[in-house]
Amino acid sequence: MSTLLAGRVIRISERNGRFSERVKALSGEEIDLCFQCGGCSSACPMTSQMDLLPSKVMRLVQLGEEAVLKSRTPWICSTCFNCAARCPRGIDIANVMEALRQMLLRSKFDHLKLETVGREELREIPPIALISSLRKFTS
Ligand code: SF4
Ligand code: SF4
Repeated sequence: MSTLLAGRVIRISERNGRFSERVKALSGEEIDLCFQCGGCSSACPMTSQMDLLPSKVMRLVQLGEEAVLKSRTPWICSTCFNCAARCPRGIDIANVMEALRQMLLRSKFDHLKLETVGREELREIPPIALISSLRKFTS
């Protein structure tokens, strides 16, 4: 796991409600229902490659912490739905991951121009990044 938010103190009183509401609107998920049981993280097959566990992503979104957009976790997520199957609150965490990818792509940060991607890069870029990029221009 990385030090993405190491040492950061997140105060509830400073919660960025707009960020949380935007993720809710884009994902269609009731993020506030998450009570941090950790079931999603224990079910996820990709955590060894992630810098934030899925349950931590959920908590940071609840807290309106935009730094979560810098995490590689949404890009590592393979949309396998193991987490959704295990969530006792019926949250589809894969939808939350997709919402975070969309937010980053729409902000034009790390914007991907497919026509400029070389063969070597194509081997390295996570397929989900290419798919999300295409969705951005077709939806
Ligand atoms: S959908 Fe993503 S976050 Fe959920 S278990 Fe699969 S890889 Fe992990
Ligand atoms: S399984 Fe559901 S309730 Fe539990 S931590 Fe993950 S998102 Fe939250």
